[in-house]
Amino acid sequence: MDSPIIHWFRRDLRLTDNTALHAANETGAPIIPVFIFDPAIIESPQISLPRLGFLLKGLEALDQSLRERGSRLMIRRGDPRTILPELVQQFGAVAVYCNRDVTPFAQRRDAEVEAALGVPLHSYDDVFLLPPGSVMKAEHAPYTVFTPFKSKWLTIPKPEMTQTPLQFWRGEGESSTVPILADFGKTLSMPLPDAGETEAERRLQTFLSKPIEDYVEERNRLDAAPDDDTLHGSSFLSPYLRLGMLSPRQAYWGAWEKYKELTANPFPSWRGEPKTDTFVFLPDPRSAQESVKAWVSELIWRDFYGHILFHFPHVLKGSFRPAYDRVAWRNAPDDLAAWKAGMTGYPVVDAAMHQLAAMGWMPNRARMIVASFLTKDLLIHWREGERHFMNLLIDGDPAANNGGWQWSAGTGTDAQPYFRVFNPVSQGEKFDPDGAYVRRWIPELRDVPTKFIHTPHLMDKPPTGYPAPIVEHRMARERALTAFKAVG
Ligand SMILES: Cc1cc2nc3c(=O)[nH]c(=O)nc-3n(C[C@H](O)[C@H](O)[C@H](O)COP(=O)(O)OP(=O)(O)OC[C@H]3O[C@@H](n4cnc5c(N)ncnc54)[C@H](O)[C@@H]3O)c2cc1C
Repeated sequence: MDSPIIHWFRRDLRLTDNTALHAANETGAPIIPVFIFDPAIIESPQISLPRLGFLLKGLEALDQSLRERGSRLMIRRGDPRTILPELVQQFGAVAVYCNRDVTPFAQRRDAEVEAALGVPLHSYDDVFLLPPGSVMKAEHAPYTVFTPFKSKWLTIPKPEMTQTPLQFWRGEGESSTVPILADFGKTLSMPLPDAGETEAERRLQTFLSKPIEDYVEERNRLDAAPDDDTLHGSSFLSPYLRLGMLSPRQAYWGAWEKYKELTANPFPSWRGEPKTDTFVFLPDPRSAQESVKAWVSELIWRDFYGHILFHFPHVLKGSFRPAYDRVAWRNAPDDLAAWKAGMTGYPVVDAAMHQLAAMGWMPNRARMIVASFLTKDLLIHWREGERHFMNLLIDGDPAANNGGWQWSAGTGTDAQPYFRVFNPVSQGEKFDPDGAYVRRWIPELRDVPTKFIHTPHLMDKPPTGYPAPIVEHRMARERALTAFKAVG
C-alpha cells in the first residue's frame, strides 16, 4: 500500500470542495482524516459552548460522510505539535495537508507544527474566496476601506470548485468516536441547528431557490427566523461558513448560477475578467439580480475582514485606528450586565440579546443595533461586546466579529466616522414595525399594543417585569460624540 498522507481538519469540516483535501487526493495516496481537540482551545476560558456544540455536531456529520466512503474520522485530544508527529510516525505518513487560517494563534501554531513534524506540512488557501495578500493596491499596500477593496476584488478571477476525494484510509484499528459536550464536562441547554455539509448545502439551495431574489428587501427583517424555512431574511449560512461545512466557493458559484439564470446577459467580470463595471449598471436596485449581487457583496465583506485581520493583527488587541484607544470608555458593570441580560428597557435591543442567548445567533441588523447601543448609548468598550458575542455566537469568527464591532463603534476601517449613532427606538420602529420580533423574544411585552411596542415605558401602566430605559438616548448620544471628538 502507498504511504498515506494526513489531512488535518480544522475549520473546513467538509469533503466537498475542500482545497487541501483535494490536493492531498491528487497525490493518489490514501488520506487519513484527522481532527485534534487542542486543549489550548477547548480548555480556554473563552471557549464558546454553543460553537463547541455546533462543532461537535459538524464532526459527527463529517464522520458519517467518511463512513459512507468506507473510512472514519480519526479523533485525538492534545497538542497538535506532539499529536501530529506521533501520527506521522505511527502510520508512516509522508506529509500533512491542511487549510490555512488567518488568526495570529493559528499562524503561530501551524509554524510550530511544521517545525516539529519531520515531514512537509502543505497548507492551502481555502477559507476565503480570495486569499489575504491577493487583493492589494497598486503599490502593494493592503486596502483599508471596503469600497475600493471590493472594486479590486471584482477584477480578480475566483477559484473554481474542486472535486470531492474518494480514496480514504479504511480506518483499520481506529476506535475513537466523536465526543459529546458531556465528555468535556460541559452542558448546554440551547437547541442547535443541524450541522454538516449536507445541511449546509440544503440551506444554500433553499436560499438560492427564491429568498436570495428578495434579499435587498428582506435582509433587514428582524422577525425572519432561520429555524423557520418560510420566513427568510438572510441565508443563515454564517455558522456553516464559519466552520467550513460550506465553502465560500459553493456560495459564490451558486449565486453566480442564479444570476445567470436571472439575467440573459450576465456580466462577464464575475468570472474575473479585468472589468470593473459589475456594480455600476443598476437597472433596478430592487431587482432580483441586484439582490443576488448584494448578497455576493456580503461574501466580499467576509473576505475583507479576513484580509484586515491578516494584515493588521493589532485589531484583536485594540482599535484599527489607534487614536480611538484613548476614548474615555465608561466602566459601568451594571449597564454591561443589563445589556447582556437584555434588560436595557429598549425592546429591540433586549429582544436581540434574548435571541442571542437562546439561539447563539442574531440577524445582521440586530447585531448593528445592539453594538451601537453598547458602544454609543452606554459608552462601553467595544471589546466587551466583541467578547460576549464570541462567547455566544455559533458563527463567532474573530475576523468578522472584530470587523463588525469596530465598524459599529466607529473605531475601525469604515470610511464613515464615529458619529453614526443608531436610535434604538426608531431602529425598532423601522425594522420591526408591528413588533413581531419584540413579542417573540420578550414575553413580558407580548400584550403591549403596537403603538407602544418600542416605547412601553410611555404607557399609562407600563408592563410589569420589564424595566424602564436605563439611559436616555439623546443625552447618551451627546456624551458619546463628546468622548469620540476628544480623541478623533
Ligand atoms: C457587531 C457585529 C458582529 C458580527 N459578528 C460576526 C461573526 O462573529 N461571524 C460572522 O460570520 N459574521 C459576523 N457579523 C456579520 C453578519 O452580521 C453575519 O455574518 C450575518 O448576520 C450572518 O447571517 P447570514 O448568514 O444570514 O448572512 P447573509 O446576509 O446571508 O450573508 C451571507 C454570508 O456573508 C457573510 N457576511 C454577511 N455580512 C457580513 C459582514 N458584515 N461581515 C463579514 N461577513 C459577512 C457571512 O459569512 C454570511 O453568512 C457581525 C456583524 C456585526 C455588526
